[in-house]
Amino acid sequence: MKIGSSARPLGVAIIGSGPSGFYAAEALLKQADFEVRIDMFDRLPTPYGLVRGGVAPDHQKIKNVVAVYEKAALNPRFRFFGNVKLGRDIQVEDLTRHYDQIVYAVGNESDRKLGVTGEDLSGNHSATAFVGWYNGHPDFREETFDLTQESVAVIGIGNVAIDVTRILARDPEELKETDIAGYALDALRQSKVETIWLLGRRGPAQAAYSPAEIKEIGDLVSADLVIDPAEVVLGPESEKDYTDPQNKKNVDYVVEHARRGEGTLARKVRLRFCVSPVEVLGQDGRVVALKLERNKLTADASGNVKASGTGEYETIPVGLVFRSVGYRGIPIPGVPFDDRAGKIPNAEGRVLNQAGGDVLAAQYVVGWAKRGPSGLIGTNRADSVATVKAMLEDAAAGKFGGETVEPDDKAIPALLEGRGARYVSFADWKVIDEVERTTGAARGKIREKLTTVEEMLEAVQSRKAPLSV
Ligand code: NAP
Repeated sequence: MKIGSSARPLGVAIIGSGPSGFYAAEALLKQADFEVRIDMFDRLPTPYGLVRGGVAPDHQKIKNVVAVYEKAALNPRFRFFGNVKLGRDIQVEDLTRHYDQIVYAVGNESDRKLGVTGEDLSGNHSATAFVGWYNGHPDFREETFDLTQESVAVIGIGNVAIDVTRILARDPEELKETDIAGYALDALRQSKVETIWLLGRRGPAQAAYSPAEIKEIGDLVSADLVIDPAEVVLGPESEKDYTDPQNKKNVDYVVEHARRGEGTLARKVRLRFCVSPVEVLGQDGRVVALKLERNKLTADASGNVKASGTGEYETIPVGLVFRSVGYRGIPIPGVPFDDRAGKIPNAEGRVLNQAGGDVLAAQYVVGWAKRGPSGLIGTNRADSVATVKAMLEDAAAGKFGGETVEPDDKAIPALLEGRGARYVSFADWKVIDEVERTTGAARGKIREKLTTVEEMLEAVQSRKAPLSV
């Protein structure tokens, strides 16, 4: 019987329910050549990955994208199994046995380190942890950040660094109606942070933030954005970067803003360029300062601009450090991992047994796990469509793993129940969603997130119906 016919649908497992996973589901459901059945798994009981756990609470509009994901999730050919972790509750061998194709949409769960002395000091944090904390992610709700410190540093000038800076710099009353975690709002209300150093190792023409994001910092009513005019003067090495429209907007903005001087507000965001942290300095095990080296920029033959140290140093007093120098994937048992690149090795979305190695039949990858931690949410749509194209080409050519048993809708629920895994269906998630919205409404917020897996499972159980798919 042809795989992909209505009598024998193409069975696909998608691991991860963030944007890239949902865009893959959407593309599979939209195509007309194959009859598909999709099961999506997530280690959390809640779907949507970084849309829920990463996008900042003051960027609610971006979160409207979940309407598209929900449409896919409500398709009768789609099932959601939340609270099911690959490598713990289900193994790659289970997937290859029960599905014709597997798509890893697992994102990047960890972050890059700086590799400087003092990174183990208390008060030195990853932006990932801070973002997860204020967004109520169960992995990070127990983190603590000493916001009694008056001076903090954010290392890196990508959009995550900007998010962290904005949440620290904003008047918390502007966040009180959002879906920010309740404990984070309370902590931010007590914050004594006055100075936020935002530290770029290269110049304004190489900044990784988007023009809209830096403008949002400049527009804050609760903090002044302060830039040294001497640090935004471009050298000849930046000429090529300045021809890029986005870079040009970024440069023009900071050049204009630098003219405004110190401003009058107590809270300052001090944006610096061409400085690299070389040591986190501590006292009694706690961060007290950051040693910076001034950089010079040089362009190689293709115009790529690199920073290198000049041997000129300065020390800024800070009590907290957030490194925001990029995310990084973590290995999953049974799934190949390219440790150097921090992602799943692949050729245009087809998983390889190792970097530069052979294609593993019927296994695919999308999103940050495929290409590394770059791009906006929408970037993942075209990326997932490209992987789905490869999947459909392989299906048309009959290239499958060859170990799959006849699909049976009851097999996965039975397997999970047999292992004592309490999976959460999409209908169950809608119960969690309803509880969060109702609790939020009572507090004048969009939603009050449940922030532990236990609370989420209790909310589902409180419906007094058995968990169902
Ligand atoms: P990113 O855009 O790659 O930025 C990383 C930053 O860290 C860069 O400024 C980089 O500088 C710097 N960096 C790297 N290694 C460093 C080191 N050793 N020392 C000092 N600085 C270092 O990563 P991200 O901010 O984590 O964002 C990830 C993706 O999510 C991006 O595509 C971003 O646009 C997206 N995102 C978007 C939004 C939004 O649209 N609102 C919000 C959050 C995230 P160099 O350029 O010199 O390497």
